[in-house]
Amino acid sequence: MNIALIAHDKKKNDLVQFATAYKALFSEHTLYATGTTGLRISEATGLTIHRFQSGPLGGDQQIGAMIAKNDMDAVFFFRDPLTAQPHEPDVSALMRLCDVYAIPLATNMGTAEVLIKGIEQGLVEWRNLRKESKGDSNAEERI
Ligand code: PGA
Repeated sequence: MNIALIAHDKKKNDLVQFATAYKALFSEHTLYATGTTGLRISEATGLTIHRFQSGPLGGDQQIGAMIAKNDMDAVFFFRDPLTAQPHEPDVSALMRLCDVYAIPLATNMGTAEVLIKGIEQGLVEWRNLRKESKGDSNAEERI
């Protein structure tokens, strides 16, 4: 399963803590992250993470592109709701694409706990079925 990890600056410690707690589970999946988040998590956990650009420099959009290609199965996006982000349009676009493609998206620790346990229990396995049945990605076929 392809999983994206993103955290705004004030939430990075939370996501590092979360990834550390569930390191064994995350290690069974292919991980992607925005630049700084990925660096922080890989340094703390030793997990292998494909790092995109930093969020404000396009990393959110790169992850969005994977979602649009049906290549992302779950997103952990620890947003900071109390700080204005220079790339707010990218943040909104990423969350919108998760809704367009029905990709499980956790934007806070509470939901993240539920989503990771769902992944652990195989509740997101329908993503594999969808990928198999749709073959390559063609958004027009899916919406
Ligand atoms: P970062 O990007 O991981 O490079 O800090 C996250 C974001 O702010 O979207």
